[in-house]
Amino acid sequence: MSANLYLGIDVGSTASKCVVIDDGGEIVGCGLYASGAGTAGPQACVAEALAQVGGGVTRDDLGGSCATGYGRHLELWADTQMSELSCHAKGAARLFPGVRTVIDIGGQDAKVLSLSEDGRLVDFVMNDKCAAGTGRFLDVMAGVFGCTVADLSDLDRRSVEVASISSTCTVFAESEVISKLAAGTPIPDIAAGVHESVAERTYGLAKRAGITPKVAMTGGVALNDALRERLQRRIGHDIVTSELAQFAGAYGAALHARELAS
Ligand code: ADP
Repeated sequence: MSANLYLGIDVGSTASKCVVIDDGGEIVGCGLYASGAGTAGPQACVAEALAQVGGGVTRDDLGGSCATGYGRHLELWADTQMSELSCHAKGAARLFPGVRTVIDIGGQDAKVLSLSEDGRLVDFVMNDKCAAGTGRFLDVMAGVFGCTVADLSDLDRRSVEVASISSTCTVFAESEVISKLAAGTPIPDIAAGVHESVAERTYGLAKRAGITPKVAMTGGVALNDALRERLQRRIGHDIVTSELAQFAGAYGAALHARELAS
């Protein structure tokens, strides 16, 4: 078995994502492990994805594989490697047919990709210099609130009045959040302020790239519905997403592996 299965792995800064697709490009297995480059995360998420495919399929049975992401150069077993920008564009174009603008917020960077009508990457802007506006900023704030990033959306939805965060630097913003907590500001209001701060930075990035609908959001931060809705209000266009948004890069890598094999 199974020359008609292709694997894509996205070794990110904070999480490893793996997707297995069939000949038709449909996802038949995926794996996610919350640690990235230089850890056991990549192997663990590949094992999870192959187990989901079932039938005792192993890496040796695959028709092709491709690694992408920050730690892709460490995955020497993969047949090929491809840049994360190209893989994100390819995966997003397949997940969201007709998408022209992809907002990807990961653990360490944020990027906005512009796609042509036929789904090719034509331009991008990126923030990889500063943690503000990335998943890292949200991870730090969740730590201060004593919750996980998965809880931030529900917290925001309970807010009554947005408590604005004026500091743009993550370290100063963390101190500001701690001061607000000490002053008795409710956590939901601060969570809303944290989301507004990320939404504002992301909007700035998207304006530089140019915003053409259809707009989609990918990366782990796309799972944060309250943040996506705040960004949507600023941008003035619907932002579509999917429960597979965090797998867009891995999906694009798998599609690339399939193309190379055909
Ligand atoms: P990378 O590719 O850089 O490792 P990802 O695209 O996997 O990044 O995104 C990781 C980020 O996604 C984390 O830093 C975290 O802030 C956010 N995240 C992960 N899971 C969730 C979740 N369930 N809800 C909200 N945010 C999440």
